[in-house]
Amino acid sequence: MGLAWINILIRSNMISKSKGQSSSISKLEILVCGKLATFLVVILVVSGIQAQSYDLLLQGGHVFDAANGINGVMDLAIHEGKVAKVALEIDPKDSKKIIDVSGLFVCPGLIDIHTHVFVGNQIGKFANGINSLSPDDFTLRAGITTVVDAGTSGWRNFPQFKEQVIETSKTRVLAFLNIAGYGMTGDSIQADHDEMKVREAVNLIKEYPDDIVGVKIGHYEGKSWIPFDRTIKAAEKTDRPIFVECHLPQYTLQEQLDKMRPGDIITHSYEKVSERMSVVNEDGVVRPFVLEAQERGVLFDVGHGGAGFWFSEALPALEQGLAPNSFGSDLHRFSVNAGMKDMLNIMSKYLAMGMPLNDVLQRATWNPARAIKRRDLGNLSEGSVADIAVLKLREGAFGFVDAGKKRLDGNQRFEAELTIREGKIVYDLNGISMLPFDGNQ
Ligand SMILES: [Zn+2]
Repeated sequence: MGLAWINILIRSNMISKSKGQSSSISKLEILVCGKLATFLVVILVVSGIQAQSYDLLLQGGHVFDAANGINGVMDLAIHEGKVAKVALEIDPKDSKKIIDVSGLFVCPGLIDIHTHVFVGNQIGKFANGINSLSPDDFTLRAGITTVVDAGTSGWRNFPQFKEQVIETSKTRVLAFLNIAGYGMTGDSIQADHDEMKVREAVNLIKEYPDDIVGVKIGHYEGKSWIPFDRTIKAAEKTDRPIFVECHLPQYTLQEQLDKMRPGDIITHSYEKVSERMSVVNEDGVVRPFVLEAQERGVLFDVGHGGAGFWFSEALPALEQGLAPNSFGSDLHRFSVNAGMKDMLNIMSKYLAMGMPLNDVLQRATWNPARAIKRRDLGNLSEGSVADIAVLKLREGAFGFVDAGKKRLDGNQRFEAELTIREGKIVYDLNGISMLPFDGNQ
């Protein structure tokens, strides 16, 4: 039976390919053969879909998806770069490839909303310079699939950032646009009001709406509120949050928070530096106006960096209800080898500080996605992009360091086992997606 059908198909193909030689076969025969062949092709295609509905199956992991309230052992299937199915059991016969992830956490790809990745050849600079880092070198190995660059570029040099970094990275790179035209140049031009143009910033955001998620103010030492007000104006006109970084010594913390709107983000929340009042007072009590800002909807990001995280601030803040909304790392040349290391280390640090595991995972995934108004990210809904972090929670004796070079001991540490970006495996620590070496290549 099967051979007969194949014969019909071959014959039909021969007919369709041999122009002018069909005279020996009747028109009826052509019609019958053609229809049967089409039917057979349909059958083959349908049965093919049924046999290999999925490209990849992550089997038996602990799936965590705060957006959908999923927190338990489940299977997750991926097809054509998207999450195809999340269920208690998915038939392995339906997938081309299967990876056993039992004992591991399967989370949405982690999102780091505070990085400096406008890497280039300028010595001593963040904007197009070596003080920034190339995202793929530090993200995928930490389970991070999306970063937001924190205003390293402005409306004048964002297109260069886009071409140089965003389009050449496997990591999804988004940006808070600096209100200063050239971004973080480190010289007087970053404080020049004439370079802080609302109309140009707004036009640029409208030109790159999928890349730019907010507007940043930082590194301004003057007393004028023009930079801050223009940042808010550009954000208002584009329905985006502002991102308030540091080095604003003339603005008091209360003034900054008072100007911020619900959904705006302040970073370096737990820093203890001379240029900005800390969030807790001398008695270790969180200042009431800070808690009021949080209640009003202002979001607090960690922004660890080299000097932005101190246990003396972060621990009482956590105990008194000022938990961070997100774990922005402030990734750059000077933070990556200090107490910060990577966002997984910050997450592990918060476990050691007593934050429950679910709260930690949510602050690395769904919270930052919502903060940047990208609800298409940070979740494992069926149909969502398959950006996935498979994490191991190691048990042992670990130490976590703050900016004051103090250590907090802990007994758990996250490790990225497998990172998937748009359905493709981009990092595999122990080769769990690969076959064992059997002596032959
Ligand atoms: Zn920063």
